[in-house]
Amino acid sequence: MASAAPNTPVWETLDWTALPPVSEPLTCDVCVVGLGGSGLTAIHELRGQGVDVIGVDAGMVAGGAAGRNGGLALAGLAPFYHRAVEDIGRERALGLYRATLDEQQRMLEATPGHVRVTGSLRIAVDAAEGEDCVKQFEAMQEDGLPVELYDGDFGRGLMFPTDMSFNPLARCRSLARQAIEKGARLFESSRATEINGESVVAGGHAIQCGSVIVAVDGRLDQLLPELSGRVRTARLQMLGTEPTTDIQLDRPMYLRDGYEYVQQLPSGALALGGFRDMHEADEWTHDATPTDEIQELLEGFLRAALSPNAKITHRWAASVGYVEGTLPVMEEVRPGVWAIGGYSGTGNLVGALAGRAAAAAATGAETTLLALFHGA
Ligand SMILES: Cc1cc2nc3c(=O)[nH]c(=O)nc-3n(C[C@H](O)[C@H](O)[C@H](O)COP(=O)(O)OP(=O)(O)OC[C@H]3O[C@@H](n4cnc5c(N)ncnc54)[C@H](O)[C@@H]3O)c2cc1C
Repeated sequence: MASAAPNTPVWETLDWTALPPVSEPLTCDVCVVGLGGSGLTAIHELRGQGVDVIGVDAGMVAGGAAGRNGGLALAGLAPFYHRAVEDIGRERALGLYRATLDEQQRMLEATPGHVRVTGSLRIAVDAAEGEDCVKQFEAMQEDGLPVELYDGDFGRGLMFPTDMSFNPLARCRSLARQAIEKGARLFESSRATEINGESVVAGGHAIQCGSVIVAVDGRLDQLLPELSGRVRTARLQMLGTEPTTDIQLDRPMYLRDGYEYVQQLPSGALALGGFRDMHEADEWTHDATPTDEIQELLEGFLRAALSPNAKITHRWAASVGYVEGTLPVMEEVRPGVWAIGGYSGTGNLVGALAGRAAAAAATGAETTLLALFHGA
């Protein structure tokens, strides 16, 4: 198998027809900036309410982290459950965890062809992580959340039976096509440069609107500078291989507190990422190109633990937003402008929930999600 073009994710299937850019002044009820999984979910939610919605992206649909990630849909927030309970309290941590379980079901229903219910493994790399797994297990069991102890071929840890693996790029493209069929107007190559609650300038043209949802996760600090103290942009990197029979992974696994993660695609190809913390200072960046230092670490992990032989076909990176603590940003940052992001590297499900919450907030619709995000 030939190597892909530089910085292309293993998920690329070259079947996307580009959407047009914004080419004239427009009007809508709600404008969504950012067409990753979070923005697209907000758009679906809005169309479900009959809202006239326009979505714009600086690049292409899912051209950011949403189409370039590990493809793991893991229930819960970025911190493991017992740590989330410590930080935000049991009621909210449990409510949000259950909401991510519900989101898994919605994901399966919306794009069944791109999603597999595989379960996932958290593997402990040392005794301390083993003890942490036990704490997580006990907290989850006590609250009736789905988890099992794991002791098998890949070590010891935990198994989460509802977790899913999926092609994130194909899934987002499917969501975008469905949104267009439902009447949303989506534009690519249309960078938003000015945002207030009544208009967005995108691709040089004004879009008049009643409110705005900014769903750019790893670029929030650039687009809305008032969030720059709260959300910090980091680069995450991955590599992909040709199909291999060196190993058989029935489900995705992550280890070392989730820093490293790997899944095997139905073809047998491996997709793995991690090691951000090994060059942490360099990885706090808006640059989204892979580096030799992190790629060498990924390659070392591949050769030592997964496959001595499989040819590496893809190397890629993307930007994500990190926040301190457990909760992402989901709030009105300017009158009529709702910002969502800062999922700290696990935004596939939580980003979708934030998109739903922001859609409700922007239109005044009722949802229990708002209280979960805001603690009201
Ligand atoms: C390598 C990697 C692995 C990961 N693995 C996982 C995983 O396995 N599981 C998980 O849950 N999460 C994972 N994540 C995190 C997850 O991908 C993100 O949290 C999530 O995709 C964020 O989606 P989003 O739609 O909020 O933002 P993004 O996907 O970042 O989308 C934002 C969009 O906004 C656009 N944009 C930016 N600025 C502008 C502007 N000025 N005007 C218009 N548009 C703009 C971008 O072009 C982009 O398309 C991973 C991330 C990376 C990078």
